[in-house]
Amino acid sequence: MALRSDWIWWNGRLVPWDQATVHVTAHALHYGTSVFEGIRAYETPQGPAIFRLRPHLARLFFSARLLRIEIPYTEEQLAEAVVETVRANGHASCYIRPLVFRGAGVLGVDGRSCPVEVVIITFEWGKYLGQEALEKGVDVIVSSWRRMAPDTFPALGKIGGQYVNSQFAAMEAHDLGYAEAIMLDAYGYVAEGSGENLFLVKDGVIYTPPLHNSILLGVTRDAVLTLAREQGLEVREQPIPREWLYAADEIFMTGTAAEITPVRSVDRIRIGCGEPGPITRRLQERFFAIVTGQAPDLYGWLTVVDRK
Ligand code: PMP
Repeated sequence: MALRSDWIWWNGRLVPWDQATVHVTAHALHYGTSVFEGIRAYETPQGPAIFRLRPHLARLFFSARLLRIEIPYTEEQLAEAVVETVRANGHASCYIRPLVFRGAGVLGVDGRSCPVEVVIITFEWGKYLGQEALEKGVDVIVSSWRRMAPDTFPALGKIGGQYVNSQFAAMEAHDLGYAEAIMLDAYGYVAEGSGENLFLVKDGVIYTPPLHNSILLGVTRDAVLTLAREQGLEVREQPIPREWLYAADEIFMTGTAAEITPVRSVDRIRIGCGEPGPITRRLQERFFAIVTGQAPDLYGWLTVVDRK
């Protein structure tokens, strides 16, 4: 599946893919001054259904606020623009990447006088860690790279430059032959994956790190918390010491790209029986039933793109 589609929404209009280019002096290219989202649209019998469009856009505006970027559109306008782009590209399902960045203007570090560019890219995309990962689980390590300390970068924001930190962890994991890395926060508590939030199950209770452990407040994380409570499971958002990982009955990672991916080992230590556990499977099934339109959309998570 190529990273490609026909149209990219750029500052209010659709432009052909090949024409959506920037100048080399674009501020974001030098200093990481961008904010973005990753959203999925699932194939349903009614057409592509965008998963939790509004919470994703709300987070985009939150991230922009942190970086003091004024987005020259309303959330409503960007929601319409996302729908328009998915429709124009004729996708049955896709990944959606809204991106807001400081364009070409000055090369001083404070780029607030640069123009703000807004684009929406969509393309067809399979499973991030592979179909087998979803079914069998992945092997991960605890990274030697930590998430940023709270007084260095705002981890809650989805800011381009911050992904250099994620890249170090991902490259380390891949070079050592693992699918993903779990990062600890500056104080040594479990934070998250390079692009996923983390959950573990111990004695029937679900644990996930709270927002002060340098995590991104994942939209999928929030959905999984809703589904866990719906299933009558006890959920604790609390700091997780590293050794709690090795004692877990089940571990899974959540994210727009990774969806709900089971973890079968951490640092070569087998988790549970080394295959996805019953609670992970239950949450996966419920999640996929809703997003693919097979179960009712009880929580208003889907925006169906009608084929006009
Ligand atoms: N943490 C990080 C660092 C991420 O990049 C992502 C992916 N956006 C997530 C967690 C999961 O967030 P979401 O469920 O909103 O995709």
